[in-house]
Amino acid sequence: MSLNDLFTEIILDHYQHPHNHGLISSPSHFSRGFNESCGDDIQISLLVEKDIIVDVKFSGAGCSISQASASIMTDIVRGKSVDQIKTLAGKFYDMVKGNEANPDEDLGDAVALQGVAKFPVRVKCATLAWHTLEEALKQQK
Ligand code: ZN
Repeated sequence: MSLNDLFTEIILDHYQHPHNHGLISSPSHFSRGFNESCGDDIQISLLVEKDIIVDVKFSGAGCSISQASASIMTDIVRGKSVDQIKTLAGKFYDMVKGNEANPDEDLGDAVALQGVAKFPVRVKCATLAWHTLEEALKQQK
């Protein structure tokens, strides 16, 4: 199996069996993001306590890249601090824009999305969940 095949498998698996799917009933933070060029729609709800993401869920609809990226993102950010998330989001943006050929291992399954750098219109699909997460964190309840 080639690395590209492996990455495709990881993306399809997250798309078909999303992790942390749904809505938190009493979130501390919430945001909804749209990618109009593709029709992707993502809602992120968070429970933040003492600057740590103790729970995170996503829901929405859209292409396999946007939904898989959201599923992967929820796995990565759970248990992390708000500052760590800013760093991780920056690393993720660099990777999917093709600015980083050797993605940080902290990005976990998100490395499977590095191929979108070759498809500029899909970069927005891959980054939607992260941008929506950052928007949610800016809002105080
Ligand atoms: Zn999309």
